Amino acid sequence: MSWLRCLSFQFIPGNCLLCGDTSGRNIDLCRDCEADLPVIRRACPYCALPLPTTSPCFRCRARRPATDRVTACFIYRTPISQMISRLKEGEDHVMGRVLADAILRRVQKPDTDALLPVPGRPERAFDHAANLARHLADAWSLPLLQSLRRNSASTPQKSLSRDSRRRNIRGAFHSQESCHGKRITIIDDVVTTAATINEIARVLKASGAQKVDVIAVARTPAKPVP
Ligand SMILES: [Zn+2]
Ligand SMILES: [Zn+2]
Repeated sequence: MSWLRCLSFQFIPGNCLLCGDTSGRNIDLCRDCEADLPVIRRACPYCALPLPTTSPCFRCRARRPATDRVTACFIYRTPISQMISRLKEGEDHVMGRVLADAILRRVQKPDTDALLPVPGRPERAFDHAANLARHLADAWSLPLLQSLRRNSASTPQKSLSRDSRRRNIRGAFHSQESCHGKRITIIDDVVTTAATINEIARVLKASGAQKVDVIAVARTPAKPVP
């Protein structure tokens, strides 16, 4: 946090972004609202799917993903889902810092050489993953890589099924520089089917990365069996 923002919290305490009350501390989220966030306690180490154990899920056991370890802090449901859509809209400039702070409280500084945000779609004015990654890079004193580019042609993943997502994302990214021998941590807002982060890990490893981990704000839960 900048010294100026720190100083301003001394005089004007933060306002909670969720309930609107005074937060009483130097972050715009009050303790009660923070305590209600849906924390992931146990998950698959390879895709962060919330589970009753920390063993790999059946999908990752059947096919090991290109990512080495994926950590997500919260289950993607209310109010985290609303907080992430407010971050994506880019109107809420403090949301990036509040979500980064929520990650910092739960995840230790990763053993990595650099952070790399999932590249935003070119048509979006605000690059929300980069905003999140910038806060984390500052807090952890880690370099931020911006060498990955998204090829513009791919259809947004949101509307597609799991298999279509994997096919659609293939070839969607390219690395502008060699990642030879680097350990890289991808920063993402929400991991859904893990197709995007896997494709990025594949591209980074093809360009020489030694290890690719992921830290995300949230993970979608498994669909209930019908
Ligand atoms: Zn609150
Ligand atoms: Zn898994």
